[in-house]
Amino acid sequence: MSDLFSEQGGDQPGFFHEGALVAVLTTQPLDRCLDYRAPEGGCMVGAFVEVPLGPRRVLGVVWGPGEGGYELSKVRPVTRVLDAVPMREEMQQFLKRAADYTLTPLPAMLRLATRSPGLGDPPSMRLVYRLGEGEPDRMTDARAKVLEVLRDYGGLAFTLKELAESAGVTTTVVKGLVKQGAVLEEASPRDLPYPRLDPDLPGKALTEDQQAGAAALGAAVEAERYGTTLLRGVTGSGKTEVYLEAVAACLRRGRQALVLLPEIALTSEFLTRVEERFGCKPAEWHSGVTMTERRRCWKMVGEGGAQLVVGARSALFLPFRDLGLIVVDEEHDTSYKQEDGVLYNARDMAVLRASLCSAHVVLASATPSLESWANVQAGKYARLELTSRFGAAVMPEMKSIDMRAEDLPGGKWISPALRRAVERRLEDGEQSLLFLNRRGYAPVTICRACGHQIGCDHCDARMVEHRFLKRLVCHQCGESKPMPLKCPACEAEDRLSPVGPGVERLAEEAAALFPSARIAVLSSDLFGSARAMKAQVEAIAQGGADIVIGTQLVAKGHNFPLLTLVGVIDADLGLQGSDLRAAERTFQLMRQVAGRAGRADKPGLALLQTYQPEHPVIRAILAGDEERFWAAEADERRHAGVPPYGRLAGIILSSPNVQEVFDVAADLARRDQPLRAIGAQVFGPAPAPIARIRGRHRVRLLVKAEKAAPLQGALAAWLAQVRLPSSLRLSVDIDPQSFY
Ligand code: ADP
Ligand code: ZN
Repeated sequence: MSDLFSEQGGDQPGFFHEGALVAVLTTQPLDRCLDYRAPEGGCMVGAFVEVPLGPRRVLGVVWGPGEGGYELSKVRPVTRVLDAVPMREEMQQFLKRAADYTLTPLPAMLRLATRSPGLGDPPSMRLVYRLGEGEPDRMTDARAKVLEVLRDYGGLAFTLKELAESAGVTTTVVKGLVKQGAVLEEASPRDLPYPRLDPDLPGKALTEDQQAGAAALGAAVEAERYGTTLLRGVTGSGKTEVYLEAVAACLRRGRQALVLLPEIALTSEFLTRVEERFGCKPAEWHSGVTMTERRRCWKMVGEGGAQLVVGARSALFLPFRDLGLIVVDEEHDTSYKQEDGVLYNARDMAVLRASLCSAHVVLASATPSLESWANVQAGKYARLELTSRFGAAVMPEMKSIDMRAEDLPGGKWISPALRRAVERRLEDGEQSLLFLNRRGYAPVTICRACGHQIGCDHCDARMVEHRFLKRLVCHQCGESKPMPLKCPACEAEDRLSPVGPGVERLAEEAAALFPSARIAVLSSDLFGSARAMKAQVEAIAQGGADIVIGTQLVAKGHNFPLLTLVGVIDADLGLQGSDLRAAERTFQLMRQVAGRAGRADKPGLALLQTYQPEHPVIRAILAGDEERFWAAEADERRHAGVPPYGRLAGIILSSPNVQEVFDVAADLARRDQPLRAIGAQVFGPAPAPIARIRGRHRVRLLVKAEKAAPLQGALAAWLAQVRLPSSLRLSVDIDPQSFY
């Protein structure tokens, strides 16, 4: 029915006059668009609308002209058009391509793109204040301050409270000025544009290689063509300084920029740096900001009232008007992979989005992912290197402690060698970090009478003791229970004992070894809020602790300038397990953690406790020879035909009924013809590494294909062959990152 579109579209392309048939994509789980009639006043393609669906009203987007083909009088009209800028064609494309890539139904993708609180609210107004023409009859200090603030901000409107606070006066003063016409009071939409960032404020004086990096990125942004650059440099080399210059180049061209960070706790430091560089703070988008601010951000991004957004991965789905740059900081970070709901990797989706809107992508990391490294090797990404740390700081010296030779009683984890190194730092008034990537007190609680290990009732996982909370917690489903007094199996009393270390237990050991030291534990579960954690991190950075004990939380970019020693309690931990990225993750994590030491003018030392100092990964870490490590790792993966040199898709089926889930999975595995047609293989079914979560039995299939194979189409055809019982859930994970 495309003629309907062109005939009735008339004056404006993409406009539907009242009564024209339009196809609406809703956020409901349907497999197609539904036809409606354009409402009174017509609507644009891309308009956000409310439409009737059965007895309900649901959110949708006018996706294009209607299909037609049935009695037109039965087609219901769109209820109303929402107060939001219509979705751009480029965003429609992005959602469609992302849905195709991840095998996600389009409505689920649309939900990601409409996560603005109050999207359906009528435009709400509030009173704002700006500079008027009139002169006050009498100038007082207080009045002068108000007018000065308004002049300083060059015509920007304030709310009453904001204005009074900025000027340091009472609201009565402002109201007085309104009466005299010196200040205008007017109704304005609630969501105001963000203050303008000024890219031409003087930045820091950059070092030579920082300057070269900034110039290269600036030129890439100015080209207004798609491209991706891997910006690599050790922690502290000034990657942030350099990509802020790319942001400046983007803002100068009047385009918008997005900076993705892997961890909310990192945003506040970044906001401060943006303010220092550009004069004000950017818009924020993540779970830690208020509903009001989220709504404002979503709207202003669409209207062009936000130049720079800093956010979590879901910020990729904001309705940017003209996005010219996406920075993915710490691009190797696993938290860019969304692991529930829509399974997508924000790093890859950033590249997709940029390619559709002629934007440049900067992937920044001290330890890039093998995927990005391989894309550079293949000539798909450009590469920029920052080779030295800023100022005097150098990468710390790294050494192993051979635990086979250390004399350490059972139930203790700090070796004599590490202990001596910490003592020396204490004497010199310097900080030490003890790193252990395990939350809680002990990973296993065992009964010494019968050998029973306490597990979760709903999952195939052992419960982790959290002594701080005085509870056992399942790290899979979050279920917790009080620490029992008796063994649940044999009922013996007082025989339950912890096995293995968590950070809480390590803190106990450290407190006994170093009684005079101030010890701080940094673990995500110990903080009620991002704010509390930030306060603690800042206090530590300023010297508020002698010994920091932390999980991988500390590996993520916080600055601890007084830190000169990092002790890795168990460098072997990540090397166990069957994850294909185990070596890569260990390498990255160890280097990130080591990078915490010696940032200021004092040289740092990293000590890795290991039982296998000869292991190639441990040796590569100690040698600091990254290129060699990547080349060796790349060889192995190429040989095995796994990512990034081959493709994987994980299929997880789950059901409360163990027989049912195995039967369906086996049936799927047998009907592998559509997969074989593209040369792909299916492995399994096998119980998933965690065979039960929240009472659902889990079975997995793994599909392996060559890199160039049209995997998504084959997967869709394959899965379409079986009808799933309603109790069964199936999820497809393209390019799986975790194998649980
Ligand atoms: P990275 O992002 O690579 O970890 P940063 O950009 O955060 O590095 O830089 C590390 C520290 O050094 C920051 O405090 C930063 O402000 C400072 N720094 C880096 N380059 C310069 C420079 N050219 N002039 C002044 N300070 C700098
Ligand atoms: Zn559980």
